Amino acid sequence: MTDCIFCKIAEGTIPADKVYEDELVVAFRDLNPKAPVHVLVIPRKHIATLNDLTEEDHAVLARLQWVATRVAQQEGIAEDGYRTVMNCNADGGQSVYHVHLHVLGGRQMEWPPG
Ligand code: C5P
Repeated sequence: MTDCIFCKIAEGTIPADKVYEDELVVAFRDLNPKAPVHVLVIPRKHIATLNDLTEEDHAVLARLQWVATRVAQQEGIAEDGYRTVMNCNADGGQSVYHVHLHVLGGRQMEWPPG
C-alpha cells in the first residue's frame, strides 16, 4: 500500500532502527517506546488488521511470533520475561493499520492492560 508508513519502513524508503529482517518480516524499534525494549515485528505484506488475515497468511503470522522470541533473546529480555501484543481496530488500541506484533520488555508488565 503506497501511503502505509509500515510498508515504507519494510521497503526501506522510510528509515527505522531495524533489528531483524528476512523475506517475510521486518523488526524495528518503536519510535515512541512504552518499555525499555519495545520492538515491532511486521509482515512485509500489507495486511491492515488481524481481521484481514487469510489462510494464506498463516506462515507469516507464525513467523511474526517466532521472530518476536528471537528478538527477545537478542535484546536480553527472554529470561526475565516479556510481552507480545497485537492490537486490533479502535477498541483494541490500534493506531497504525498494518498488522504488527509489539515485543515489550525490560520492566515489570501489568495485568490487566489498560
Ligand atoms: O498497536 P498500535 O497500532 O497502537 O501501535 C503502533 C505503534 O507504532 C506505536 O507504538 C507507535 O509508537 C509506533 N510507530 C512507530 N513508528 C512510526 C509510527 C508509529 O514506531 N513511524
